[in-house]
Amino acid sequence: MNANIQPNYHEVEIECACGEKFITKSTKPGDKIKIDICNKCHPFFTGKQKIVDTNGKVEKFQKRHNL
Ligand SMILES: [Zn+2]
Repeated sequence: MNANIQPNYHEVEIECACGEKFITKSTKPGDKIKIDICNKCHPFFTGKQKIVDTNGKVEKFQKRHNL
């Protein structure tokens, strides 16, 4: 293996706006990356996102399917 073709992988500390920190590997220069959202505070990952149900469509669906 030719080591020269390997990208410059190194560990970087990711710091989210919510305060969450984690270590990942990156080829980007520097040892810290700041992000605005992570898997701890993103609604897609936390599951806190609420279904906007203004006219009872979900309820009707659940009744129809005996849920
Ligand atoms: Zn976060």
